[in-house]
Formats: sequence, structure tokens, C-alpha cells
Amino acid sequence: MSLIVQKYGGTSVGSPERIRNVAKRVAKFKAQGHDIVVAVSAMSGETNRLIALAREIQSSPDPRELDVMVSTGEQVTIALLAMALKDLGLKAKSYTGAQVRILTDSAHTKARIVSIDEERMRADLDSGHVVVVAGFQGVDAEGNITTLGRGGSDTTGVALAAALKADECQIYTDVDGVYTTDPRIVPKARRLKSITFEEMLEMASLGSKVLQIRSVEFAGKYKVKLRVLSSFEEDGEGTLITFEEEGKMEQPIISGIAFNRDEAKITVRGVPDKPGIAYQILGPVADANIEVDMIIQNVGAEGTTDFSFTVNKIDYDKAMKILQDVQKHLGAREVIGDSSIAKVSVVGVGMRSHVGVASQMFRTLAEEGINIQMMSTSEIKISVVIDEKYLELAVRILHKAFQLDQEV
Ligand code: ASP
Ligand code: MG
Repeated sequence: MSLIVQKYGGTSVGSPERIRNVAKRVAKFKAQGHDIVVAVSAMSGETNRLIALAREIQSSPDPRELDVMVSTGEQVTIALLAMALKDLGLKAKSYTGAQVRILTDSAHTKARIVSIDEERMRADLDSGHVVVVAGFQGVDAEGNITTLGRGGSDTTGVALAAALKADECQIYTDVDGVYTTDPRIVPKARRLKSITFEEMLEMASLGSKVLQIRSVEFAGKYKVKLRVLSSFEEDGEGTLITFEEEGKMEQPIISGIAFNRDEAKITVRGVPDKPGIAYQILGPVADANIEVDMIIQNVGAEGTTDFSFTVNKIDYDKAMKILQDVQKHLGAREVIGDSSIAKVSVVGVGMRSHVGVASQMFRTLAEEGINIQMMSTSEIKISVVIDEKYLELAVRILHKAFQLDQEV
């Protein structure tokens, strides 16, 4: 017998019918003798609906009140799921984040979990209950309701598993695992049997939307055994997120191709090539709370250089305005921006022990005449920025070149 934490996402609990199906799945695991704690999201679309409603009152809603409001989405699903479980003859109890006492800091709409009280859940498990916990929410030390950021129920699931030292954390979603890339773009994409935490973290931060980044960080830190599965299939192994196995021979060089259409590029041309320039350019951007991703500075020539970086498209206009001021201040030649770019990345721990991954990536893109505008690397990934209109082509040819296409 083991203790399993299961997390069900919004589409998995998107209708009464689906909630009944979740209850059946929970019942099946319970019948096998396992102890089950379930974390659930709001019904699909509900969080968006609530945010839109709040915006009808305040264009940027008060964060404390917004948390009070959006946390109701999950409060509805825990109750419905507990009812469905009871209908199947199981003992079940639902709890909000505050009732469990998922203690967080006070950063409304993006709070971090500080600790979780597990006594109450333990007692319920010991008396044979399924414990159903609202995802995405917690409470701060003053008793204010907080939420963990969009997609935060994943983090609730993993954090519960860590706190309870569960044997496994199963994340049920609308896909049956983690794929080598988005199957909507590459129909030959394959489900991965396993992927390492580091790769998953890169994939999540590079644009793959399967898991909230923070949940992966959490699982890595607390060594939670994590599996992504489909809630619409009876069986299926899903994808196991693992620690890198020492000396594993068959490690593929590349595990996946990630991409992101959400970035825009800004270039400041002809800035003086001297100490302090990067800070003078990016300082005001950071002060405006704009996150910067890729940064590139050219080798200087004749006392000046060019400086480029990417920001989220949402922040593009704001960043351009800031940079126009910076340009005047620095006496730079010009500021140019381009929001029709995309970022494509190849990810794989196998890269550490193989040379030539970058050159193969560049050759593959060159053969199709795709121009690389920016690039950046880490130990296990190579990212390039290209014209947005070539994104799908780039993903397809890289998927093939790195032998990720499914054999048919
Ligand atoms: N309901 C929240 C959201 O839509 C949290 C979650 O689903 O994970 O972001
Ligand atoms: Mg989600």
C-alpha cells in the first residue's frame, strides 16, 4: 500500500460528468489499497471567467481581493469531487488551502508555499478518507487568502506530496504525458517514457505548457517522484520525471524541442562600448518589473556596440518606451524592435557528453534558409531566435534532424 497524491487539472474536472470520472479513478486506486490525497484545479475556464469579472470592476484588480475571488473556483471543485466520491460509497473530505493550512508568504497572486500542516490530512487518511484539497491557494500568516500563480495547482499537488512524503505524485491532465514537442505542430512527436527534472525544467521555462515551472522546481528540490498522465485514458504509463541515471547508455542526445512565441526582441544600436552600459540599458527595464530573457552584446567596433535582448510580448510596448528614453540619455544611434520573432530550443542532458549539437542545429536551419537572429546556450539546451513565420518549419525539421520522429 502506498500514499499517492493525484492532481487533476481544469479540463479533467471541466463538467459534472468528468468529475464523476475522476471520482471513479480515485475509487479504483483506493480499491487497490492506496491512500489518496487529491488536489484539484477549478473547472476549465473558470479562473479566466473570474478574472474577467473582477476586471469589469477594476481594470487592474486589487491583488488581495482578486485572490479571495479566484480561489472560489477551486473551492467549488473540491466540494463537487467530494460529493462524487461519497456517491461511490467512499469516505471523503474536502478542504480549502486555508483549512489544511497551506501557509504561504503574502505575495498575492504569486505566493510561495512556506509550509503545510499534515496532521489533519494524516488523521483523515488513517480513518479511511480520501482527502480532497483545493489547488492553487493558501493562506498567509495573517489569515489572508493567497494564490500561487496561474497553473499553481500543479505546485499544490507536488507540495502536498513532499509534505506527506508520498510515494508518487500523479499529475492528470488532457495530454497523456510529456512529448518530444507539441504534437499539434509535429504529428510524429513521441511521448517520452521519462525525462529528467533538469530537462523538464528547461522545457517548462522554454514554453512547454505541460507543468507549472515552479512545481517542477519543487519536485526536484524535495525529490518527489512525479508522473504526468492523461485523465481521459484508462491505462497508460504517462511520463515519469526522473533524476539523471548515472552511466545510462541509451540516453538520447536531445529529448525535446521547445518553442515560445511570446517574446519580442529589442536592439539598441550604436551604444558606447564602455563599462556600465549593460546596467544603464537593463536597469530601467528591471525597475519597471519587466523580465528579460536572452541578452546579447556584440563585440565592440570603433568605440560602439549593439545590444539586444528579448522581453515578453506583453511588456514590449512598455519596454520600447523605456528604451527610447535610455537611447537619448546614452546617445545611442537608434532603438529598433521586432515582435514577430519566435524562440526554438533543443533540450537534452545528452548534450553534455556530445559535441556538435549546436552545429547540427545550425546546419539544419541553414539548409532551409532560416536565419538565426540570436542564440543562447546552457549546459543542456541551445536556443535560437528566428522569424516567427518559420517557427513551425523549424520545429519540424529539428525534430526530424535529431531523430525524434516517431517510427511508423
Ligand atoms: N485554476 C488556476 C488557473 O487556472 C490554477 C490551476 O488550474 O492550476 O491558473
Ligand atoms: Mg494547469
